[in-house]
Amino acid sequence: MNLNDNETEAVFRTEVQTFIKAEAPKAEKGVGGEEALTANWERNQQWFRKLADKGWIAPAWPTEYGGAGLSSMHQFVLNEELALNRVPRPLHLIIGLGMAGPTIIVHGTEEQKKEHLPGMLAGEDVWCQGYSEPGSGSDLASLQTKAVRDGDDYVINGQKIWTTLAHMAKKMILLARTDPDAPKHKGITYFIVDMKSPGVTVQPLMNMADTHEFNEVYFDNVRVPKENVIGEENRGWYSAMTTLDFERSAIGSTIGMKQSVETLIEYARGHTDDHTSTLDKNPMLRYELADRMIEVEMARMLSYRVVSLQNRGLIPNYEASMMKLYNTEMNQRIARTGQHILGLYGQLGRGSPLAPNNGRNCYTYLRSVAYTIEGGTSEVQRNIVAQRGLGLPRD
Ligand SMILES: Cc1cc2nc3c(=O)[nH]c(=O)nc-3n(C[C@H](O)[C@H](O)[C@H](O)COP(=O)(O)OP(=O)(O)OC[C@H]3O[C@@H](n4cnc5c(N)ncnc54)[C@H](O)[C@@H]3O)c2cc1C
Repeated sequence: MNLNDNETEAVFRTEVQTFIKAEAPKAEKGVGGEEALTANWERNQQWFRKLADKGWIAPAWPTEYGGAGLSSMHQFVLNEELALNRVPRPLHLIIGLGMAGPTIIVHGTEEQKKEHLPGMLAGEDVWCQGYSEPGSGSDLASLQTKAVRDGDDYVINGQKIWTTLAHMAKKMILLARTDPDAPKHKGITYFIVDMKSPGVTVQPLMNMADTHEFNEVYFDNVRVPKENVIGEENRGWYSAMTTLDFERSAIGSTIGMKQSVETLIEYARGHTDDHTSTLDKNPMLRYELADRMIEVEMARMLSYRVVSLQNRGLIPNYEASMMKLYNTEMNQRIARTGQHILGLYGQLGRGSPLAPNNGRNCYTYLRSVAYTIEGGTSEVQRNIVAQRGLGLPRD
């Protein structure tokens, strides 16, 4: 098996490297979560506009919809180079560009494509995803938010929770129940909601890493025009699953994890402070670091599998679940290894002058708990792999 770039990918990689060298700002060391979105906002926005002008904000979208028409492998190369060079990535656009946009391309009408895709491609419109509710997460099809047809509109009432970026978003992809009498998967419709609509209220929720990423969103008689239904009424479940397949296929993050392990290795090699666990004091840390590096390479192989399916025009399914499960659990193991290496200093957060790497590991340790919940829990991913990948019966 040859995992090197082919000729066109190698040429593209050089082009990306040259562009980054000439145009990109440096990412802030040790900055994550909300800060990664807001630190140097104006400077980063200029950089994202340059990426958009180049067609590289949605490189694998078809050219007829404003993408660069590049292969998924080229997109993988671009993501790798952005991560390798530690330049800011437009993570606040991920729900639009990576989930809502591709779903609209597959299931939307020409009018919907014309209306919603340009703002995403310009790198301007932030989107959020209104799926989960207080009583419906893993069992998403039990959702209770209602949409009732009234003339040319639907009227929405209910509540969503854990809605990432709702506080910044211009638009939401929303699932609501339109037929309460149908079997639960069959009475759901997929909407696009303007977040400025009267009756939408966004309440912030802080996560345990003390950053503001997600929210509760309330809908009180919110009117949504019928033109904002994606696909057919009561068949929203199928579009919703397309979005989830795209969400779980999000690629390019393994380089970041490799860099985290490399940073820990550098620290463990160099650090001799009395209060810190070093390789000399705890030789077993060598094994931990070796395990993490092997796992990062495994994760890269799983990413290649997903991207090669996408490259052939297929939508990865249980393969994406396998990758999501492995990467997120590995991320938690990397954060734990970091805490073992940094010792007591690992508990110091951002802002503390004694915090190694500006408290990055402390933040990742706390934030990584959520990785195995968001986008579907590890148990749900294991069920998908067991049923669809291994052909085992439902539990
Ligand atoms: C950081 C973060 C960001 C998020 N962002 C969004 C967002 O933008 N939009 C959105 O809609 N949602 C979002 N979510 C919500 C996320 O999708 C749900 O939290 C997730 O699907 C789990 O649902 P739940 O929290 O209701 O847990 P539950 O479904 O109540 O699960 C509780 C526990 O039971 C287990 N479990 C449930 N069913 C099964 C089963 N059949 N077999 C085995 N075990 C099972 C679960 O694995 C879990 O351990 C986000 C969550 C987090 C943590």
